[in-house]
Amino acid sequence: MLSRVRALAAPRPHLRHHTALMLWRLAGLVCLIGMSLSLCAGCLSPAVSTELTASDAPTVITTEPRTLRVGQSANATPIVMDVFGTGDDTVLVLGGVHGDEPTGAAVARQVAAYLKQHHAQLVGRTVAIIAEVNPDGLQAGTRANARGVDLNRNYPSSDWRRGKRGRLSHGTGPASEPETRAVVRAIELIQPKRIIDIHSIKRGHHCNNYDGPGAALAAVLAECNGYAVEPSIGYATPGCVGSWTGIDLRIPTITLELPRDLDAMACWQENGTALLAFVQAGPPTTLAAK
Ligand SMILES: [Zn+2]
Repeated sequence: MLSRVRALAAPRPHLRHHTALMLWRLAGLVCLIGMSLSLCAGCLSPAVSTELTASDAPTVITTEPRTLRVGQSANATPIVMDVFGTGDDTVLVLGGVHGDEPTGAAVARQVAAYLKQHHAQLVGRTVAIIAEVNPDGLQAGTRANARGVDLNRNYPSSDWRRGKRGRLSHGTGPASEPETRAVVRAIELIQPKRIIDIHSIKRGHHCNNYDGPGAALAAVLAECNGYAVEPSIGYATPGCVGSWTGIDLRIPTITLELPRDLDAMACWQENGTALLAFVQAGPPTTLAAK
């Protein structure tokens, strides 16, 4: 248990005495006491050079499910993560990275609402959900964050590069944006064994896109939603979440591209089973053994 608590609570040295982290550590003890968990601390060490600021430090908001504030947007809107369960099989669900793709956020919220009612999904599992990675963009209906940066080009991947002149910015550097750092922090805390990031795209291009060792998981989704399995979205996406977590960190990563002409409820009806299959799918070794 303590290794798990340490893994979740491990602060950067300069934040060791920060009040928020102390609260997080205490809440982690309360939430996890009695659980026999042994998540491998240190199996994920994102190569992020960005310094955490005080506003990046996680704060516990509720304890059941745990709702954590993992950062804040450029306009100081809290970025929150709901965490269900405490098991070793750790899953991260992201939505609302692009503010003009609100169905991704809505479907991520539906996953959270479902898990609140169906605890059997959580046996041996931890599911963390950030439904609104880009709250300012969702509020404004813009792809970018409030600083004009495309967050799905801002992750600290080895292929990060500056945006082209006249196009949306990729940020001043890898993880230059507070929303990106919130996701980085979430991944450090949860150490997910698989990740799904829910977007939307023009019909005909909708698909189960995967990066890194994610092909088998994309196939699991495809069996349920009928969307194509695509190793590439068809254009370069340097600095996207899949480049970082999938290709660099070797965490199976899915970018679920919903057809943009479907409303949120239709998206959930079409993808709910697929998303729950994703949640239930074990890590790649388990998947391969099935
Ligand atoms: Zn998108």
